[in-house]
Amino acid sequence: MRYYDAVVIGLGGMGSAATSHLATRGVKTLGLEQFDPLHTRGSSHGESRIIRQSYFEHPNYVPLLLRAYELWTQLQSESGLDLMTITGGLMIGRPDSQTIVGSQQSALQHHLRHEMLTAKQIHERFPVLTPTSELVGLYEQNAGFVRPERCIQAHLARAEAAGADLHFGERVIDWTPSSTNSTTLVRTTRDTYETGSLVLAPGAWAPKLFKLDVSLQAVRQILFWIEPLCDPEAFAPDRFPIYIWECDGGVQFYGFPQHGPANDGIKVAIFYNEDPCDPDNVNPWIGDEFVQQIRSCLQRRIPCLSGRIVKAIPCMYTNTPDHHFVLGRHPRFPMVTIASPCSGHGFKFCSVIGEILADLATTGSTRHGIDMFSPTRETLTTPCSGVGY
Ligand SMILES: Cc1cc2nc3c(=O)[nH]c(=O)nc-3n(C[C@H](O)[C@H](O)[C@H](O)COP(=O)(O)OP(=O)(O)OC[C@H]3O[C@@H](n4cnc5c(N)ncnc54)[C@H](O)[C@@H]3O)c2cc1C
Repeated sequence: MRYYDAVVIGLGGMGSAATSHLATRGVKTLGLEQFDPLHTRGSSHGESRIIRQSYFEHPNYVPLLLRAYELWTQLQSESGLDLMTITGGLMIGRPDSQTIVGSQQSALQHHLRHEMLTAKQIHERFPVLTPTSELVGLYEQNAGFVRPERCIQAHLARAEAAGADLHFGERVIDWTPSSTNSTTLVRTTRDTYETGSLVLAPGAWAPKLFKLDVSLQAVRQILFWIEPLCDPEAFAPDRFPIYIWECDGGVQFYGFPQHGPANDGIKVAIFYNEDPCDPDNVNPWIGDEFVQQIRSCLQRRIPCLSGRIVKAIPCMYTNTPDHHFVLGRHPRFPMVTIASPCSGHGFKFCSVIGEILADLATTGSTRHGIDMFSPTRETLTTPCSGVGY
């Protein structure tokens, strides 16, 4: 049986980053992934993920975000890949909405540069957006998007270059701690490994692997690419920002500037849909109700995006009841570290979560503030609603 100082289960967004950080610290690391590299059956495909700093979810995320930006920038220059594009970002909603109040709170508390815009100013600056007069916007210059597939590719390449073993097409069936809790046995479809430190980053498969009595829910989300009815130049990344728009009732939809070939359409999606799924059996069918939902969001707010749907794909979130992450040492097995359930807003953090996972796996602690993500917090035991903020 082969021994590794660290074994990472799952080589998606979080696991590829953890493997990279562990291996570059000289830790003898094995990464295990059930599918091929960059597969499209988890949570990290679809070409782009929003990255932003004025974080409406909670101001405690901001220090992590600032470090995530630093690490993405470093990975970008080391890999030579175009990973992150800064376009500016616009949060839109009523002045008392969670999106506006929360973003403003994070911006003010952490002295982040931002501007408040009226509906008229939003329309003047970005003419394809037609907010009604009671809405406002918070614009931040440092927002943009990262390219998830390239980020994973860069982390995997960095891990391999630093000596990590990466096994694809090898599913972990189970893991069991030794009786003294000093090592863990990891049984896969091909082999059994022994490790001093196990990192679980299985994304939507977390409920099947965590051995934790908490409420986690994998949900299916749909990403759409729509042909604009106006000049697509209006969505060019040097003149159009990423945006999140909160409608009445708390429903948020979001979108990107054009970031693929011109005839690929403009990407948009609803932030939270309640569509629970089994990650091993995700329904590929995208029903009319999902199309109607996104159409009704866009119709009056971005009328130019009422064109043909060029493509639509499913992807999974792993939701927690409070929509905050789960990240820390396993409460029952101290040599096991867990991460992943990121409730649909985790990709931008992968670079820093990789660093945190490597800290926890090697020293048992981290300088980063992660208390609010504790796997033992009380809110994790209430049922997931699956709906937005
Ligand atoms: C539609 C959509 C839009 C999103 N938008 C944003 C956004 O704009 N900004 C943002 O920051 N975040 C966003 N997110 C969230 C973000 O993408 C996720 O938080 C992130 O990708 C999760 O990464 P992960 O590593 O946990 O999961 P994954 O990347 O899915 O990785 C988990 C891996 O574990 C593997 N695995 C599972 N079980 C086993 C096993 N038994 N053996 C071996 N391997 C196993 C899986 O195959 C998978 O590859 C979005 C997510 C979705 C779905």
